[in-house]
Amino acid sequence: MNFFTDEVSISTNAKMDVIDITDMVKNVVKKHSPKNGILTLNLRHTTCAITINEGEPNLMKDIKEFFSTLIAENKSYFHNRIDTNARAHLGNILFGDSKTISVIDGKLSLGTWQRILLLEFDGPRIRHLVTTFVGE
Ligand code: ZN
Repeated sequence: MNFFTDEVSISTNAKMDVIDITDMVKNVVKKHSPKNGILTLNLRHTTCAITINEGEPNLMKDIKEFFSTLIAENKSYFHNRIDTNARAHLGNILFGDSKTISVIDGKLSLGTWQRILLLEFDGPRIRHLVTTFVGE
């Protein structure tokens, strides 16, 4: 059995940001030369999220619009009585903070258009992603 885990830091650049982290994840995995198994990705945060979708720049703008439409800005959130980021927490709940990806023959099993995207809702910040592999 092969097991490895890494933690990587990702700088986000705006309050709401979408960052393609696919190549970074691939590089982290590649240095361990895994064969077949399962890779988990989990963010150690409550105000950002991770998703897998196309990395097309205009779609990233659409994701930001989608978030703004789903989670209204001009609402009085209870959490904002003690903090200012209720929308960011709701974004985390909505989109999720972890993903599981199969690794087959040493490669992430992603489709042609699939990219791993970090969704920042309360940036700019340094975010921490844990990558863990179990397999052979
Ligand atoms: Zn908060």
